[in-house]
Amino acid sequence: MAKHQFQTEIGQLLKLMTHSLYSNKEIFIRELISNASDALDKFNYIRLTDEKFKEQEWSGKISIGLDKEDGSLTIGDNGIGMNEEDLINNLGTIAKSGTKSFVESLTGDAKKDSNLIGQFGVGFYSVFMVADKVDVITKKAGEDQAYMFSTDGTGEYEIKPVTKEEHGTVIYIKLKEDEKEFLDKWRTQEVVKKYSNHIAYPIVLNYSEEETTGEGDEKKTETVKKSEQINAATALWTLPKSELKEEDYVEFYQSIAHGDDKPLTYIHNKVEGAQEFTTLFYIPKTAPMDMYRADYQPGVKLYVKRVFITDDDKELLPAYLRFVKGVIDSEDLPLNISREILQENRILANIKQNSVKKILGAIKKLDGEKLETFTSQYNKVIKEGIYTDHTNKEMLLEIVRYKSTKAEALTSLDDYLKRAGEREGETKKEIYYIIGEDENVLKHSPLLEAYRKADIEVLVMDDKEIDEIVTPAIGSYKEWEFKDVTTIDAPDSLSKEEKEELNKEYESLTQKIKDVLGDEVKDVTTTTRLTESPSCVVKDSSDPMAGMAHMFRQMGQEVPETPLILEINPEHHMIKKLGDLKDDALFSDIAWILLDSAKLSEGMEPKDKSSFASRVAKIASRAL
Ligand code: ADP
Ligand code: MG
Repeated sequence: MAKHQFQTEIGQLLKLMTHSLYSNKEIFIRELISNASDALDKFNYIRLTDEKFKEQEWSGKISIGLDKEDGSLTIGDNGIGMNEEDLINNLGTIAKSGTKSFVESLTGDAKKDSNLIGQFGVGFYSVFMVADKVDVITKKAGEDQAYMFSTDGTGEYEIKPVTKEEHGTVIYIKLKEDEKEFLDKWRTQEVVKKYSNHIAYPIVLNYSEEETTGEGDEKKTETVKKSEQINAATALWTLPKSELKEEDYVEFYQSIAHGDDKPLTYIHNKVEGAQEFTTLFYIPKTAPMDMYRADYQPGVKLYVKRVFITDDDKELLPAYLRFVKGVIDSEDLPLNISREILQENRILANIKQNSVKKILGAIKKLDGEKLETFTSQYNKVIKEGIYTDHTNKEMLLEIVRYKSTKAEALTSLDDYLKRAGEREGETKKEIYYIIGEDENVLKHSPLLEAYRKADIEVLVMDDKEIDEIVTPAIGSYKEWEFKDVTTIDAPDSLSKEEKEELNKEYESLTQKIKDVLGDEVKDVTTTTRLTESPSCVVKDSSDPMAGMAHMFRQMGQEVPETPLILEINPEHHMIKKLGDLKDDALFSDIAWILLDSAKLSEGMEPKDKSSFASRVAKIASRAL
């Protein structure tokens, strides 16, 4: 007999399970059934692919036993089973990446927290919400020795060799004194129906019942053993749509998503003909917790002719659709397809393409509250798709939403075009946008003054990190070109000649400002894009570094900011006066303030904050 210590994180996890998560305890049944079903899937797969097991008669089954006298519940399967090493690795030692992030994600809201259990792959430990003691009796398929793993959920566990006939696992749970409700047949049956009705294997409930037979003196009561299948045990996606009700889809979703909320929408599709496959996809109402983690768990499982192949293939759908959950079941792929080959398989590539089209089609059809929910959860990953999925770029551009200077709510590009098309005297087919971190700063940017005056709508993009990379790469949508209003070639009411003339007129002033600011600016010019502000800063869109910078930042490299161009508004009172100013020290202070305050209004920082503050103070006291 060997005593082992649980790894620290698991110790913590167990404490949480026993002491903090007191609501929704019933989900331990769902989690153990889900593990049993996974183990059956794994055995089913090797049985069909590994010569060693080929001859075996086998039909996968999950058994639940209720023993009132003993106060215990058992959940058994004839699946793949575990050997000693597996027990240590899977249940005792190695804290999976999920364990730590689970503990970090706990909010203190017990109901919400227990919903996270399955999502983070810590389902097994949920049994400690109800158990005083747990024995896992298990034998791995193809091996001779069985083992028992026992623990009372406090820091230590034991593993010892035992005997067991068939391969598979039985989990024996000694229930806590006040958790005996799960020994009630109706209660357990209700939980199984609720979460595991569409597990593809039969779930059989074994229980005892008092039965009275005979009449009068002959009457006697005895305890009879009973056994009954309590789930539908069909792979739901194989059923025809016409036989399925919304609640069936919801039930199945809850069993694969380990949750109890409804999906935002589902997409069930059967393709027949040269290639045959079935897909069933769900879009969750809330984005998975690990959506922005590099080691996210993919949501789609691959089956071949109903045999489970993998749930860990990130290539089944494009990465930007990693929030989608569901099933792909192919009739044409070979069962023993290896993971490496999966990536290049043409059948799978075709399924993938078809799946993306179906999913995007369903998203496009969302409206009202559902659309709002979708956008709030997934707008950013849709933007990722615009950048990475060239085939479906147009469709993704129809789906993406943006804030705007005109629309109250988020707007689609189509609605922007509709409004823009109605602009009077407008001939240029251009979509204007401004990118930054803070919606409020963006909406009040001096760079928008001219657009406001001309009543031109500008899209306000405040997912800076991603918009900066994605938007410049879009190019155009329905022949309308995207234009960044923070670059020098953004529209202006003047022609090129008029502009040059204006610049000439102010040449001595702009040169003088440039001399003061030195390397801090690339150039100083005049502009007519401002109405209220004296100055603004813009980027030089022809600067090759501007485009490259995006690329380098995306690869995780630090790139210096491209130098800015300071534009001054010749119509502004302050600029008019500045030309005649004789006091050089004051001129220099004002030149710096023109630059620094323009930067501030774009959400950037002045180069030297304390000098900026002291200049402002100096000028303010002079004004007094
Ligand atoms: P997850 O199911 O997300 O991997 P769990 O905490 O539910 O996380 O289970 C941990 C691991 O323990 C499983 O991945 C599996 O390897 C193993 N396991 C649990 N139950 C069984 C079982 N009935 N048969 C075989 N292996 C099991
Ligand atoms: Mg599990």
